[in-house]
This record gives sequence, structure tokens and C-alpha cells, in this order.
Amino acid sequence: MADRVESRPFDAAIIAVGSELLTPEKVDTNSLFITQVLNDLGVAVAFKAIVGDHRGELTSHVAHALRRHQVLILTGGLGPTDDDITRDVVAAHLGLSLHEDAEIIDAIERRFAARGWQMPAVNRRQAMVPRGATVLPNPNGTAPGLWLEHDGAVIALLPGPPREMKPMMAGEVRARLASRAGDTRLFRRLVRVSGKGESAVEEIVQPIYSRWLAQQPTIATTILAGLGQVELHLVLQSSDAPLAAATLALAVAQLTLALGQDVVSTDGAGIEAVVGDLLRARGWRVALAESCTGGLATSRLTDVPGSSDYVERGIVAYSNEAKVELLGVPASLIQAHGAVSEPVAAAMAEGIRDRARVNVGVGITGIAGPGGGSAEKPVGTVCIAVAGATTRVRTFQFPGGREMVKAMSANWAIDLLRRHLLE
Ligand code: AMP
Ligand code: MG
Repeated sequence: MADRVESRPFDAAIIAVGSELLTPEKVDTNSLFITQVLNDLGVAVAFKAIVGDHRGELTSHVAHALRRHQVLILTGGLGPTDDDITRDVVAAHLGLSLHEDAEIIDAIERRFAARGWQMPAVNRRQAMVPRGATVLPNPNGTAPGLWLEHDGAVIALLPGPPREMKPMMAGEVRARLASRAGDTRLFRRLVRVSGKGESAVEEIVQPIYSRWLAQQPTIATTILAGLGQVELHLVLQSSDAPLAAATLALAVAQLTLALGQDVVSTDGAGIEAVVGDLLRARGWRVALAESCTGGLATSRLTDVPGSSDYVERGIVAYSNEAKVELLGVPASLIQAHGAVSEPVAAAMAEGIRDRARVNVGVGITGIAGPGGGSAEKPVGTVCIAVAGATTRVRTFQFPGGREMVKAMSANWAIDLLRRHLLE
């Protein structure tokens, strides 16, 4: 192991072990929890892998991890059966012999005895401890965890079942790592953006990002695109909290300046909560008339606790009759322009605004598909209106299937409302 790269920062590798994790049925969630705990300590995760119950495969990943990283967390494969190989593979790779630990045998026997059972012989396997390893007790299962320090690296072997792994990671492992991690921490900011696609946002922020790469401490960035929204994640590793906060604040200010009103929030708040705060600040109430979104926009606004302060009502006016009866949209308007049209969207927004006696109304009408499209108005055509003192209406052409069109429509409706409130 002489080829370890000593100059690397103190960072971690995670290996999730278990063939079931390589099937379409089972997801590796353990590594997310482990990453959370590591990040809390200021330890970044440099790589993670999911490996089946296969000695050769696991050995080469353990070897790779220990060549490059100071922390290696393994989860899974500590069970009593033949396919549980983590303990053996790690010990063999490090050249450590295994011995049976009498206290572990005792603990497992007591666990079985408490239920009136005898310990099966296979469970003896779980009491095998590599020389020099510290045993991490497992109050929630039979397999204890193991902690090893080897050649400047620390290695933790944790059980696979999440309810056994989590307390061990958050307890013993965290405490042991904390003393080594020093006072370096990860500092994060999240900038939420709406109204632009991922590549459009990328194009604007890239020149700013490249300036950050030249500075110290360096800000690591990731971009994450959802339905109608983009998230910019900024992460900075530092032992100087005030400097980190100031550096990130400046970075966020640069992004805000470049992106303008497309920035929804810089404190992690969701767009629904941001709109809620804007309405509350003005003492305004909103009502929504939704057709193709089936109530989705109202549903999202009411996800925020306390939204009854400003959401007066939402009506799903799906049929033409409902638009006439419930919103007062003139039947002639629907006849002349079609139900999916800017004049109808505007009449829906104004209708609900007036009938609900609120400050601002929202109208959404569109073609979610897969049927109902035409050459002139293909699937994904959606008209959204916001009616306050004046009425604004826009037509969108959303890509994707029914679910995506509904989600994009709801998001844009909430975003147009947000923009209206910023004016
Ligand atoms: P093992 O410790 O390998 O015997 O794992 C026992 C059980 O824990 C498996 O059958 C899975 O249901 C669960 N498990 C193992 N690894 C993971 C993981 N990385 N994420 C979530 N669940 C897991
Ligand atoms: Mg397993």
C-alpha cells in the first residue's frame, strides 16, 4: 500500500455490499445516510460503489478505495451466511488473521435465548474479528460492526439492514471519525432557479463558476434539474466558518445578479413557500382556476403549512360547462377561441379572482395529452393567466407526457404568480 496518495484531502469512499442491490428491486439507501453523517463532519465522499457478494469484485474495490482515500465505510455482507463476505475480504486484503470473539458469541447467544431460541452454528461466523479490530456493538441485530485503523486509513464495516446500520454510523463511527476529521466542515448554499432550462442556466453560470475555480477556498458546484426548476448547489470545504459563509454569500450574490428574477430563493425555500411569503407580505389572497392541471397548482401551494392565510380557493374546471358555470367564462369565448386559448385562460383567471373576491386569480388551461392535440394546438400547449389589477397571459409548449405537462404547467403557474407579486 505504498502507493497511497498522501497529499489527498481527508475524504471518504463508501462500498455497499450485496447482490440484491444490483437487482431492479432493491435500492442502496445506506450510502445516502452514511454520506449525510460524513458531510456533517466535513468529510466529503469522493467515490462510492455497489458491489455484489463477490470476493474478487469486492477485493479490487477495497484496494482501490484504500489507495486513494483515508476513510472507507463498508455496509452489508456481515450476515451469518456463505454469501456474507465483507469481513473475510477486508481481513484478507489487509493480511489480518481472524479470531473468534467470545463476547460476541455471548451477545448473540443471549439475543437468541431472549426469544427462547438456540444460536444456529452459522452465526459463529459473525463473531470472527480481524486482529486489531475494534468491535462496534449492535443493539438492533446479531452482526456487530467493526472498526479498523490501518496504514493511516480508517475502515468501518457496518451491517446492511438500515435500522442496524444507522445508529452505528451516527453513534460509534461518527464519534470516532470526529476526532480525526479536524475542524474542517462542509458549507453549503442552494440557489433555486425557475423559468429557465438547465442548459440556459448553465450557460449563464459557467463563466462565474470558472472564476471560483481559480480562488481559494474553491467552491464545488452541481446543477440539478427538476420539472420546471433548476437547483444550483454550492459546497465549500473549510475550517474557517466566517470566511466560508462570506465566500458563499458573495458567490450567491454573483449568481443572483446574473440570473435576476429567475432566482426563486437562496436559502433553500421552495417556490410555493416563496410565493406564500410574498402574498402574506402584501396581505393578498389568491384563488386558482385549473383545468389541465386538475388542482395540482393549488395542491402545491397548500403543501405549505399556514397557506390558508392566503389561498382562498382552487377550482378544477375541467369541462367547458364548468368553466362557464363556475367561473363565468362566456360560452361564446370558448366557441370562438377554443377552451385552450389565451382569452379563455384570462377569463378563467379574472373569473375566479372576481368570484372569490381576492387580489389575484390564476387560470390554467391546456392539453396534457396523449389525446386531444391538433396541428395548431399540439399536446403540451398550455395557456396560463395571472389576473391582478391587470391580466397577463402566456402560452407554453411543454415537452413530455401527461405527467410532465401537468407538473410543468403547475410550476409555471406558481412562477408567473411569483413574478406578478415581484412587480
Ligand atoms: P446484509 O448485511 O448484507 O445481510 O444485508 C441485510 C439486508 O439489509 C439486505 O437484505 C437489505 O434488505 C438490507 N441492505 C443491505 N445493504 C443495504 C443498503 N446499502 N441499502 C439499503 N438496504 C440495505
Ligand atoms: Mg447481503
